[in-house]
Amino acid sequence: MSFIRLTSATKTYPPQTKGAAPVVALDDVSLEIAAGEVCGVIGYSGAGKSTLLRLLNALETPTSGTVEIDGADITRFGERQLRRLRADIGMIFQQFNLFDSRTVAGNVAYPLEVAGRPRDEIRHRVAELLDFVGLTARARAYPEQLSGGQKQRVGIARALATNPRILLADEATSALDPDTTQEVLGLLRRINRELGVTIVLITHEMEVIRSLADRVVVMEHGRVIETGPVFDILSAP
Ligand code: ADP
Ligand code: ADP
Repeated sequence: MSFIRLTSATKTYPPQTKGAAPVVALDDVSLEIAAGEVCGVIGYSGAGKSTLLRLLNALETPTSGTVEIDGADITRFGERQLRRLRADIGMIFQQFNLFDSRTVAGNVAYPLEVAGRPRDEIRHRVAELLDFVGLTARARAYPEQLSGGQKQRVGIARALATNPRILLADEATSALDPDTTQEVLGLLRRINRELGVTIVLITHEMEVIRSLADRVVVMEHGRVIETGPVFDILSAP
């Protein structure tokens, strides 16, 4: 389990056109996410949600402010620490981002191959992960042979391969129908409760927040405009 703390995090992008003002994607965001929490982030398109996730997995560094994970400021990490950090953070996506030319097992094995794990360990771990997400029978299938829900379960198994303490989900159920969404949410709930993984999920679906999150963060124009328990925020008039 891991806790996350942003302190006055600001991210500014250079102007898109010459002479225009810089884009402030995140504007002085301070935020704490407790270890073991499921934190939902909502807000309109352009609110800064994806930028927030990219700061958490150190894909971007803030223009100013700090991003801490378990008390360590990751904006100051060197290459070695960043590699370690990336294994500690799993990520799942709206469009799944699977490798079409690799099998289900091959997709799940990928982060372990990158980490240089021994063959036997990979085989064992992949089998364990496929069992966890209920895809053992589909190990040798290719992504194009799978339903959307199955593809996202492969994405989840791959994200869990290195035993991360944090899982970041970017609109992970937005491409799925309601029944499949419930199935994926059930799996995420187990990952949180059984494995103790801290989850930060971006979504525009209120139902997803209601059914999974402990707390909600509402973003607008790069700022956190509201945060609190889901029940308090989403039942407000
Ligand atoms: P959301 O995920 O809530 O839709 P984003 O974090 O993607 O919001 O974007 C926040 C703002 O930052 C938007 O105005 C967007 O156009 C801008 N932005 C995001 N990424 C970049 C980038 N790489 N370069 C320039 N502007 C960006
Ligand atoms: P691809 O054709 O997708 O590249 P590979 O056959 O190279 O897939 O397998 C990728 C990895 O997945 C290997 O490390 C392999 O040991 C493991 N693997 C393959 N099939 C299974 C399976 N049924 N159960 C567990 N691990 C498997």
